[in-house]
Amino acid sequence: MHRPRKLLELTLARRARLLIAADARARFPEECCGLLIGVLRAGKAHVTRVVPAANVAPPARRRRHFEIDPGALFAVRRTLRESGATRHREAILGYFHSHPGGNALPSGADLAGAHEVGLVTLIAAPPRKAGVVPLRAWLRLGGGPSSRFRPLKITTDL
Ligand SMILES: [Zn+2]
Repeated sequence: MHRPRKLLELTLARRARLLIAADARARFPEECCGLLIGVLRAGKAHVTRVVPAANVAPPARRRRHFEIDPGALFAVRRTLRESGATRHREAILGYFHSHPGGNALPSGADLAGAHEVGLVTLIAAPPRKAGVVPLRAWLRLGGGPSSRFRPLKITTDL
């Protein structure tokens, strides 16, 4: 998997953006989560599609934490491999999740969590169950005590 530390920008297919917003609203007040799939080209991450997954964190924790269903991750990896998508450098670029009623900054849980270095983290922050869903993108850098997230510029593809 690519681990681009110089990545500064992310393009998001319009359909992918709409799907993330819809998932964040539908799961409100719990966190939604899923996978970002696309390609790295010319120093940019191009997210072409997203795959929502079940949040399998214990129910009492789902308002502030997420755990992506490992079965969904396994299925996406297998599909990418079997479809030959990896030959076109299509890969899992990272994850998305939501902060219901919160903001789109990485939380303490995100900093302490198992987000892999070099992967993109998209955070959707629906203020309520309906309406506009702010979205921000972050790149995970470092690990352990030095871990942090750097903001990525988001542009939307049509
Ligand atoms: Zn979070």
